[in-house]
Amino acid sequence: MTLEGRVALVTGGSRGIGRAVAVRLAADGAAVAVNYRSRKDEAERTVEEITSRGGRAVAVRADVADADEAARLVRETMAGLGGLHILVNNAGVARDGLVHDQDPEDWWEVLKVNVGGVYHCTRAVAGHFMSQRDGNIVNISSVMGEGGWIGQSNYSASKGAVNAFTRAAAIELSRFEVRVNAVLAGFTATELIGGLLEKDGGRAIKRQLPLREFATPEQVAGAVSFLAGPDSSYVTGELLRVDGGWAGQLGTGRPK
Ligand code: NAP
Repeated sequence: MTLEGRVALVTGGSRGIGRAVAVRLAADGAAVAVNYRSRKDEAERTVEEITSRGGRAVAVRADVADADEAARLVRETMAGLGGLHILVNNAGVARDGLVHDQDPEDWWEVLKVNVGGVYHCTRAVAGHFMSQRDGNIVNISSVMGEGGWIGQSNYSASKGAVNAFTRAAAIELSRFEVRVNAVLAGFTATELIGGLLEKDGGRAIKRQLPLREFATPEQVAGAVSFLAGPDSSYVTGELLRVDGGWAGQLGTGRPK
């Protein structure tokens, strides 16, 4: 098992992509702290899934948009699991709206969680990772950070910031043997995109994706496992797309 003896913290690990990441890192051998903000029962279900297969896991409540709560989250993870080597900054939200009429509070909420959470948790682990000269950070970003979509100016801005932060933090922390990378997920079947599925089950969007399907959370988790493990030991500052080819295509449709 590639992550035997390692401890990982997955923010927003209670459901969706974070849950799949927590389960995958545990299957790779890591002890895992499953962070959540409000749905305690879902976090406990993820912990139960890991422990029932012989893994080690704890659930820790914290709002990563708050710097003090993020610092407590890291302290409680280390106290509960005896160390920390891997941080997966996964917690994220979407509040879609048009630029000209969205409530500014909703606009900023997305920035506070999606960028603030990544910064607060990275800040909270950095001293420990630097002094042990061993640490690995994987940020769950999105291809939306490299492009735009109607109604997602806040979400795109947040993920664009996460992509830039990933590269900058990777350069800053590399001399302490701390790696920082990001997974840029495309459409992934979770509650976050539930609204898109309501009309036609996502068929109209899927037709535009080269691989013709949304990602599963487990497919995104596979990329996280690679970046969090020893097989990517010479990779840092990388933005790895897991999007079924979506962002690589010209937006001109198929030839007739
Ligand atoms: P999801 O199913 O809605 O799950 C979101 C998770 O984040 C939940 O565990 C939630 O905890 C947690 N969370 C939200 N705000 C939090 C906060 N302030 N503090 C701590 N935890 C918080 O979403 P998802 O689709 O799995 O998304 C996970 C990540 O992947 C996000 O960063 C998202 O932007 C990114 N992503 C998703 C897609 C997609 O198509 N689904 C595509 C690209 C990137 P509670 O349950 O307790 O609220």
